[in-house]
Amino acid sequence: MPELPDVENYKRYLQRRAMQIPITDVQVADTRILDGVSEQRFKQCLTGARFASAQRHGKHLLVHLDSGIWLTMHFGMTGALSFFENAQADPRYHRVRFDFDRDRHLAYTDQRMLGRLGLAEDGEADVFINSHALGPDALDPKLDLAKFKSALGGAGAAKAALMDQGRIAGIGNLYADEILFQAKIHPRTLIGSLSDQQLGDLYRAMRHVLKTAIARGAGSENFSERLPEEYLLRHREKDGSCPRGHGPLQTLRFAGRTAYYCPDCQPKP
Ligand SMILES: [Zn+2]
Repeated sequence: MPELPDVENYKRYLQRRAMQIPITDVQVADTRILDGVSEQRFKQCLTGARFASAQRHGKHLLVHLDSGIWLTMHFGMTGALSFFENAQADPRYHRVRFDFDRDRHLAYTDQRMLGRLGLAEDGEADVFINSHALGPDALDPKLDLAKFKSALGGAGAAKAALMDQGRIAGIGNLYADEILFQAKIHPRTLIGSLSDQQLGDLYRAMRHVLKTAIARGAGSENFSERLPEEYLLRHREKDGSCPRGHGPLQTLRFAGRTAYYCPDCQPKP
């Protein structure tokens, strides 16, 4: 599932391939992917416009058009972007396709159809962020340790708090497991019981893990093999073992998702 690092790399990909060239046409292959906008209006607003800039907040990608509106993208479980030349080469599961001149195209693909594309009419991306009640982005340069602590709050278990987009935006199931593993905190530890030292470890692990994942190519194929050997994500599977040599990883069901952890590195609270 695309989380902050994946979406950051989608943003950079879009910036490299599809900026400042006029959109000549928009194909909507499945209208269920559109969020609160009709196919007609969606096509009308985008055709003839250009992608002028892009920013990311948490798992949301916000693309500013030179016409003044925003294209908003969320990638659900399986969403991705694919730029290609030659319309015959349409990737599988493309739901929306932006066409440019010289047979160039950007497809939004999504096998499971849980992502959404929409439009935000307001001049400021902040309006979108506020309306979705998103917390600060996990990699926001202004999010220092003090702000991190206050955004995280004092209630609930560590894993649930990290994944709560209203507290801090961008972290999902996989990266929450990695961050907790690197910070040596059990997923069920109550946030309110963490020491200052542990909160500092959690903050530094969050920043480091997310930045490392972006730099190693999150969002591309076989990406986990490019992560450092000591990362949980390389071993996060049935029968996987702790990369620090402690033996089998354990799992627990948590808010409908599976958490992987090492009982030695991350002792029960
Ligand atoms: Zn371990």
